[in-house]
Amino acid sequence: MTDFTGVRADFPLLSTAEGRTLTYLDSAATAQKPEVVLEALRHFYRYDNANVYRGVYGLAARATAAFEAARETVAAFIGADADEVIFTRGTTDAVNTVAWAWARAALGPGDEILTSEAEHHSNLVPWQEAARAAGARLRFVELAADGSVQTEAVLGALGPRTRLVALAQASNVLGNLPLDVGAVSRAAHRLGAIVLVDGAQSVPHLPVDVHAMEADFVAFSGHKMMGPTGIGVLYGRREMLAAMAPFQFGGEMISHVEAESATFKEAPQKFEGGTPPIAQAIGLARACEYLSGLGMAEVAAHDRRLGELAASQLGEVPGVTVYGPGGARLGVVSFNLEGVHPHDVATALDQQGICVRAGHHCCQPLMRRLGVVATVRASFYAYNSEEDVEKLVASVMSTMEFFHHVAH
Ligand code: PLP
Repeated sequence: MTDFTGVRADFPLLSTAEGRTLTYLDSAATAQKPEVVLEALRHFYRYDNANVYRGVYGLAARATAAFEAARETVAAFIGADADEVIFTRGTTDAVNTVAWAWARAALGPGDEILTSEAEHHSNLVPWQEAARAAGARLRFVELAADGSVQTEAVLGALGPRTRLVALAQASNVLGNLPLDVGAVSRAAHRLGAIVLVDGAQSVPHLPVDVHAMEADFVAFSGHKMMGPTGIGVLYGRREMLAAMAPFQFGGEMISHVEAESATFKEAPQKFEGGTPPIAQAIGLARACEYLSGLGMAEVAAHDRRLGELAASQLGEVPGVTVYGPGGARLGVVSFNLEGVHPHDVATALDQQGICVRAGHHCCQPLMRRLGVVATVRASFYAYNSEEDVEKLVASVMSTMEFFHHVAH
């Protein structure tokens, strides 16, 4: 069993004068970075910095080797092969890569993209635009009463015209248990459809094996899993990547260029035009190693335990509404205080050293389905503890008292 009590000490920001008093509960937006990741970035720039692929000198060869080793590490973390891992800027960039390189070429009039109103805008708007461009249409999985996407509903919504299923494995708002991607992929494949998984909230918090879950594409962001910003991944099944044409053109992705035409490298390089995020990839690989050291099953259990504790304790505070499922849940808890705007709650909690997010969480259709304009969201990660939950609940109670006192 991993002992999580010492984990916080690995995160320098949380040990600064300001950080020592911080209760950081916004990891679903971005995670803090452990010292080993900061050190990997520094080490690369300090000792190995050169552009990749092009240089013949030793330093450039070292930078290229470090970059490709990072790809191997990240691939192993998700159960993929290295040539199936495309480095992108993040989840948004990864989803857009499929929307441009696959959807616009593969979809036509009458084809359907099955998605949901609970998606992050990053996994909705690219499909709205691709559907418009291809003459295809969006269909939406019926949401459960708590707003969540349930596997059974997805299986029931698949139809003969479904060509793509684009869904998050884990919600950034509700904290419901993850989608059974394996079941969805197998059913979709039987109908000739493919599956893209938004893994922005699952890859950082759950053990994910992309081959075992048989998805065609999985998108995720480095910064939400303790890695740097500016780096993310599009995992693509090898046959899919081989069949897709690149959509961004430039250096690094070509194999031969004439004045009037060019040929391209194989995947993943054909989707990585221009100088890639080299240091960021190396930092992300170090984050994967750090998380593997903790053990992803243990990270998942830890985050879940804190999420369940927070949801049940907040649910007992009079006037607090907790969204999402009761009982078993992941480490994301959205809630509202009766009669108090979520932004005021977040500001009041900030005054007590608690960082939570308030807003629509890039999920405006879901907010409408929940009948609210915004929620407060607390999200937990490996450096959080039960003490953080206690502090959150106590501060929510005092915020409630304060605003109701002011109101009367
Ligand atoms: N999808 C989900 C479920 C998310 O939570 C997020 C980030 O909040 C994204 C996509 C977009 O990630 P990024 O902004 O890193 O591209």
